[in-house]
Amino acid sequence: MPERSLSVLVVGGGPVGLALAGDLGWRGIDCVLIEQSDGSIYQPRMDMVGVRTMEFCRRWGLVGAVEGSPYPRDYAQDNVYVTSLTGYELGRERFPGIGQAPTPPQSPQRRERCPQNMFDPILRDFAASQKTVTMRYRTRLLSFTQDAERVTATVENAGSGAPEQIFARYLVGCDGARSLVRETLGIAMRGNPALTYTTNVIFRCPDLLSLHDKGKAYRHIVIGPEGTWATVVAINGRDQWRFSIIGSSAQREYTTAEIEAAIRRAVGRDFKFEILSVLPWVRRELVAETYRQGRGFIAGDAAHAMSPTGGFGMNTGIGDAVDLSWKLAAVLQGWGGDGLLDSYTTERQPVGARNVAEASGNLRRMLSVSRHPDITDDTPAGADTRKKVGAEFSELMRREWFTLGIHLGYRYEGSPVCWPDGTPAPPDEAGTYEQTARPGHRAPHAWLADGRSTLDLFGRGFTLLGFGATAAEEAALLEAARMRGVPIEFVPLAEPKIAALYQRKFVLVRPDGHVAWRGDRMPEDPLRLIDVVRGAVSGPGNAAWQGAPNAAKMA
Ligand SMILES: Cc1cc2nc3c(=O)[nH]c(=O)nc-3n(C[C@H](O)[C@H](O)[C@H](O)COP(=O)(O)OP(=O)(O)OC[C@H]3O[C@@H](n4cnc5c(N)ncnc54)[C@H](O)[C@@H]3O)c2cc1C
Repeated sequence: MPERSLSVLVVGGGPVGLALAGDLGWRGIDCVLIEQSDGSIYQPRMDMVGVRTMEFCRRWGLVGAVEGSPYPRDYAQDNVYVTSLTGYELGRERFPGIGQAPTPPQSPQRRERCPQNMFDPILRDFAASQKTVTMRYRTRLLSFTQDAERVTATVENAGSGAPEQIFARYLVGCDGARSLVRETLGIAMRGNPALTYTTNVIFRCPDLLSLHDKGKAYRHIVIGPEGTWATVVAINGRDQWRFSIIGSSAQREYTTAEIEAAIRRAVGRDFKFEILSVLPWVRRELVAETYRQGRGFIAGDAAHAMSPTGGFGMNTGIGDAVDLSWKLAAVLQGWGGDGLLDSYTTERQPVGARNVAEASGNLRRMLSVSRHPDITDDTPAGADTRKKVGAEFSELMRREWFTLGIHLGYRYEGSPVCWPDGTPAPPDEAGTYEQTARPGHRAPHAWLADGRSTLDLFGRGFTLLGFGATAAEEAALLEAARMRGVPIEFVPLAEPKIAALYQRKFVLVRPDGHVAWRGDRMPEDPLRLIDVVRGAVSGPGNAAWQGAPNAAKMA
């Protein structure tokens, strides 16, 4: 008798693996997460939790934990452009502390500042609290194979040192940019493997704010005669700072003395500080050519490596996890077709490519300042240069600071498991986002009379929203779902404002909160619609849809 297989083996306990394990557990799916480290974070990387990720945190019951994390909520989040912290200020984009920031009308949540050493433990507690999730730290994936039935993984625990086999129906590599899972699956990455060789340094200096006159700010971008060369970020809003020497595409290593001199140059004076960690890393612009190979999947940095300019990396990865989790659950619970698993690449790979490109664009804009030998000169010509550079740079950088469209506006165009309604795609803008219930898009947020968000209606199964539907109109679709074992709930809504936002009498929303189908009448063949959205048969797709003879019947 072969040993019993668990459902999902998640490799990697970074934020994406933790979110995936947590969401799988939240859906009742048994999974084991292995992480090679003991979970402690050598150097926190991400700190911006985007608005869509916060919507997922809302679903998982984690908003209170994020808002209660130790990052000071009154710490001004300005981005300031300086020749040095004690030097000239070239420009500034003002943002209030996270606690005072407005919530955008398109969402029940706002973005948050919660550095990785605070956010990972929140996700870890969430995953560990799921009955069906087992977390195994200090356990490393050594290799794996797959056949038609399952994946066989060989792992090693750092304590025992003994290799051990784990059998699973599916394996997901959330094992970061140098993913062994991706390599074993033979998935190639496309793009630029080295945009810059950057060095990040965390240093401690409790008095830094009193050493300069620029006040509290999230980030200082330091521009010298050679152009933009460094950043200083308030990593915990207290005593720790992340100093980055941005570097270039030429590989370069720094001695401790060089790093100390660079920190003093960025601050503009001699002062005492303690270096806590130094991390040389490569900034990449890569997307995997597929996110699936048989029973193996990749998510997060394993699937896309992007410049941190914009703060999209983890947020994109958590989007991957949420898209994949319900699909794996559907297949494991017996109501999802294999097409659902294939649609993971179709839906998420273009989002990865889009966000990688946006992040590189942000980097290019940040580095676009050309040489200005007189930028620090205390002369009229120097003042003119600073005025010009400051104005141009401030304008250019706004695209990176306002990215609601990136976080909420991604859509699953041409997805085989959505049923397009023939309406044209709205523009995909980085900075702005107009809500739409067009199939493939995130279902819009609106406040219900009882104080909940429409987003609170979505999650474990499908949700059929009915706006002013007469009794039993929806029965045929609910019956079709029942026949296929697809979990679905009918929610009648009467609020005219929400009906106007959703634009159709019926809107079918998936477990991940994206619209699968909408129409003013029930489809003529409800079973076919259900088979499409559960990935058992391929959907019409936009191109096929435009001239499809049954378009009027379905819409
Ligand atoms: C300076 C900086 C700032 C950033 N800021 C932001 C931000 O504000 N917002 C944002 O969204 N993103 C940000 N990012 C990007 C973000 O940090 C990453 O996208 C995110 O950490 C990726 O998460 P992940 O779980 O996919 O991979 P990782 O965080 O890399 O985790 C992978 C895990 O897999 C484990 N692992 C690897 N191989 C194995 C194996 N064989 N067996 C077992 N375990 C294994 C590793 O130990 C690791 O814990 C930033 C990045 C940098 C460098």
